[in-house]
Order: sequence, then C-alpha cells, then structure tokens
Amino acid sequence: MSVTTSSELSYLSINQAGPWGNFVQQLERVKPHLPDLEPWFASLERPERSLIVDVPVRMDNGNTVHFEAYRVLHNTARGPGKGGVRYHPSVNLPEVMALAAWMSVKNATLNLPFGGAKGGVRVDPHMLSHGELERLTRRYTQEIAPMIGPDTDIPAPDVGTNQQVMAWMADSYGRQTGLAVNGVVTGKPVELGGSLGRQEATGRGVFTVGQLALAQLKMRLPGARVAVQGLGNVGSVAARLFSQAGAKVVAVQDRSGAIFSEGGLDIDALLERKKNARQSLADLAGTQTLTTEAFWEVDCDILIPAALEGQLTEHNASRVKARLILEGANGPTTPQADDIFQERGVLVVPDVLANAGGVTVSYFEWVQNKASYYWSEQEVNERLGQHMAQAFAAVWQLAHEKGVSLRTAAYLIGCSRILRASELRGL
Ligand code: GLU
Repeated sequence: MSVTTSSELSYLSINQAGPWGNFVQQLERVKPHLPDLEPWFASLERPERSLIVDVPVRMDNGNTVHFEAYRVLHNTARGPGKGGVRYHPSVNLPEVMALAAWMSVKNATLNLPFGGAKGGVRVDPHMLSHGELERLTRRYTQEIAPMIGPDTDIPAPDVGTNQQVMAWMADSYGRQTGLAVNGVVTGKPVELGGSLGRQEATGRGVFTVGQLALAQLKMRLPGARVAVQGLGNVGSVAARLFSQAGAKVVAVQDRSGAIFSEGGLDIDALLERKKNARQSLADLAGTQTLTTEAFWEVDCDILIPAALEGQLTEHNASRVKARLILEGANGPTTPQADDIFQERGVLVVPDVLANAGGVTVSYFEWVQNKASYYWSEQEVNERLGQHMAQAFAAVWQLAHEKGVSLRTAAYLIGCSRILRASELRGL
C-alpha cells in the first residue's frame, strides 16, 4: 500500500522547529525499523482532531479577557484519547499536538488501552485569582465538552493544573451533560473518585525507572548526586524519593532560579518553604545560587529535567556531566541533544517511559471509576511498580537487541502497537 498526502498540513508551518518538529524527527528514526507498517506512519504525522476554542473569562476587576485554548486528539487506534491539560502562557497548537502525540506513544509503550490526547490554555495561572481560575476552567470544559468523555477522551492534570482544576472539570462536564460520571477526568481529588497514589505517581515512576537504570549501569543509588529541574508535581516527588533513598540532591532549578549544595540539599525543608510562601529559592541558607547555564553543568550522576520541553539541546548537551538522564518532563531533549548523549554514552530514559507513572495511575483511576470499586494505596503502588518494571525491561531488551537508544526502542514498541491497531481497523 502506498500513501500520498495531499499536502503538508498548513498549520504545521507555525512551529516546525519546536516540539512537533521534534516528534516528527523522533518518528523518522523509528520508521526504518518497521518497514511493514511504514504506510501507516502518515497517520501519526498528523493529529486525528484538533479543536481551538475561545475561553472568555470575567475577571475580578469586571473586565473580560479572552484566552486561546485547545484540545487535540492525536490518535485513537488503541482506545479513547488520554492526556493532560496544560495551563501555561506559551501554550500553542503545535505544542499541544506534540504533547498529544507523545501521549499516544507513551500509552502504547506502557500498553495502556488508550490513544493520545492533550489540552492547553494559553494563560499564566499564577496571575489568576482562585475565582478566575475556576471560571476559566469551567468555560474551557464547556467549550471542549463535545470532544471529551469517559469513553472518548479523558483529560488529567499537566503543567499548571492540579486536582482542584480536575474537580471543576468533572463538575462542569457533569452539569453540562447531565452525566454524573467522575471518569471523564483523572487526577481528581480522592473525595471525587480520584485514586490513592495518583498525585505522587509520576515522580514515583521516575524514581522506579531510575533505580532500574542505575542497576543496569552498575551505579549505586546511595550517595549518587542528583540534579532536578522543576519542582512541580513531578520534580518535587522525584527529588524527595531520591533523597529518602540516600541519594544527594545537589542542585535544583525552578521558575525562581537554581541553587546548589555540595553536601546535598534538605529537600523536605526546601519543599516546605516553597509550599508556605511561594518563595524564591535564591536566598535559602547554606546554598549557592547558580545561573541556568551553570545548572546544566553541575557535577552530578543523575539529571532529571522535570519542567518543560526543549531544555536539553545541542547548545548544552555536551556540557552535561550526568551519566543518566531521567525525563520527568515531556520532550525535554531535542533529537540533536539525543545524538550527543548517545555519542557520549549518557543514558537517556525517555519521557514516554520515565514519566509514564502518572498516566498509568490515571488508567488505574479510570478502571476504579468504571468499576466503582477502590483500591488501597499499597495496591496502586505495587501495580504501578510492576507495570513500570515490565515496560522498562521490554524497552531495555529491545534497545540492546537492535542497538538503538531507549527512546527509539520505546517508540518501536509503542508505534508498532498503534500502527498494527490502525492496520487492523483499516480506513
Ligand atoms: N500529564 C501527564 C502526562 O503527561 C498525565 C496524563 C494523564 O494522566 O492522562 O503524562
């Protein structure tokens, strides 16, 4: 079968060099390994459905502000769309497309019965009051309601959103449709049908694959030096788990700046301080301030980018000292940086595996909602550990068989599952 596409997607010219362009390059590296499925790759090179909506919000001062927002369903060959909602001032359509595509690959690599989707609102949530945030969330949910649903597309938290946002989304969806279904979103508060263990799941998964990768590299966890970029839901949990296990978190970076301590930072104290006062890290006693450049060059064994995409590039990859990179964020490493790391023998555990703990427990949440039967936290964590370990072992083995990076191996597993499903379905 041959596939001809009528033309390039017009909206792709907006940002070819950004995350979407990176995703397409990542796909290109997988194609030669899956010659039988090649004709179906064109379906991954464009999203199935993209929705752009206007979200007008009455602000506290009486003015109305219009926010641009999106929901993208990248692929549903293996099941309903699944993926978070991001509130960030730089969100745009090609970025949400890439984030949705990464969800397709992640869900397939972990063998979760979902396709991939993502949403976003172009807004700085830190500039909104609680009431403004609620009105924005409710109106956004109303606007994307035709697309989402427990069996069509299931949102969850991402950068800039949290359990409270999910509670408002579930409530707004229920009021609009008359369906009292909690399973329309995951990452909800436990009181509304959220799963125990979901909040920590992404960071916990990063820690789990970190332990497995260290074992393969014959590196010891106690005393290992760790640097973490981003102290949101992913970075803070990963930093805490690594430090509890005896690693030394020597550097962290957040929106306010980066700090370093040769002896290891006191992560509990640091997170407590952030929680209480949204304070800057800069003036924390006993620590040294770092520039962004210096943060990437810190002497460490493990680097955890857990913020945004496009952080590790051809400009800084050759200066990274870590031997192991765990991608807590989605898309933090460009394909050019991947090549540099591969050449230098730096092991990158890719986002679609390293940060898949969150969506894995989202899947458990969705299953619990469907069954209206709830698991203990221990059960959730055990199943999460098993799921991550299985996926890690499969990716590791394939990477060694084929002599490819862990990213390409993960894509091989994920893409072959998706494309095989596409082939079976037909057009
Ligand atoms: N936003 C998270 C991710 O990028 C979680 C998605 C979900 O739970 O659906 O994987």
